[in-house]
Amino acid sequence: MEELKIYLDKDIDTNHIMNKKVAVIGYGSQGYGQSNNLRDSGVDVAIGLRPDGASAKKAAAEGLKVMSIEDAVKWADVVQILIPDEIQAKVFAEQIAPNMRAGQYLMFSHGFSIHFKKIVPIEGVNVIMVAPKGPGHTVRSEYQAGKGVPSLIAVENNPSGDAREVALAYASAIGAGRAGIIETTFKEETETDLFGEQAVLCGGCAALIKAGFETLVEAGYSPYMAYFECLHEMKLIVDLINEGGLADMRYSISNTAEYGDLTRGPRVITDATKAEMKKILSEIQSGQFADEFLNEMHSGCTNFNRLREENKEHLIEKVGTKLRSLFSWIKERKIVDRNKN
Ligand code: NDP
Ligand code: MG
Repeated sequence: MEELKIYLDKDIDTNHIMNKKVAVIGYGSQGYGQSNNLRDSGVDVAIGLRPDGASAKKAAAEGLKVMSIEDAVKWADVVQILIPDEIQAKVFAEQIAPNMRAGQYLMFSHGFSIHFKKIVPIEGVNVIMVAPKGPGHTVRSEYQAGKGVPSLIAVENNPSGDAREVALAYASAIGAGRAGIIETTFKEETETDLFGEQAVLCGGCAALIKAGFETLVEAGYSPYMAYFECLHEMKLIVDLINEGGLADMRYSISNTAEYGDLTRGPRVITDATKAEMKKILSEIQSGQFADEFLNEMHSGCTNFNRLREENKEHLIEKVGTKLRSLFSWIKERKIVDRNKN
């Protein structure tokens, strides 16, 4: 295994971002987190938005400069694209590209549009990535707590010669240099990010929770018990894994749980599951997933919305809503406030 270089604030010259104007296009999860952190770090930042959208009011209420997307791109040296991946290509073609000039820095927090060639910027434009490895709301809450979310940086085009330095300085200004910054490529970030969320973090995890919950309920156990055992406690276990790996989790649980883990886990996630994961990975690598997703998003989301509805109606959600309302501390610790961002 090669040595891993982790950049921290002490390795970074923040002048590379302090002397630039930054336009953040979009004020959703990441737009909210990154732009407020940039501003609090002293960076000259403006938000590019459609003037009649819901976000324009939220950003203005936070005291941020708000401009049209076109004006923000003309005004800026650095243009960070933080609108949903599936609309980036259209907004780029219509509102961003016509206003860009050589020497600017085009930025992303996910490599999707560049790697799958849905966006091809003109020559002379630097193309970089700063991808926080956490939701935008956490990027903000950690920064406010004096900490940061670890982030990836990548450089795709570097005509100005200082694209890496600008990416590092931007990452530092959003708080990532307090936690650790790692360099990758657009290809690696895009493919591993999609794989992680599909096979393990979101897709795999949700399917595992649901299958466990259904198994207990179908065997006649209380759905409340099933919720506690298969969903609620997931966070407690994941916190241990996050802190000290699988080893610390196994150190902390009982011998009974550990023996069950080691002997039964591989019966749940089998060679067949791993073969399916490899298939999922090759669909990502070939661009098949990207095209399927974009096609779905641009043709009315029929399948997507049907799946969303089905999952909303699942018993686990009804049980969860009831149970969580009993735990006041979950509400008090909430990171997301939908009125603000
Ligand atoms: P969001 O879905 O939260 O973005 C919403 C923003 O996009 C709003 O400000 C909205 O404005 C604007 N928007 C939506 N449609 C349009 C449009 N047609 N024209 C102009 N503006 C529009 O995005 P995320 O923050 O989730 O994702 C942004 C990027 O960051 C993506 O590349 C994503 O992969 C990446 N990323 C996201 C993470 C996350 O935590 N969510 C984590 C790491 C990376 P309005 O109010 O006007 O609709
Ligand atoms: Mg990810």
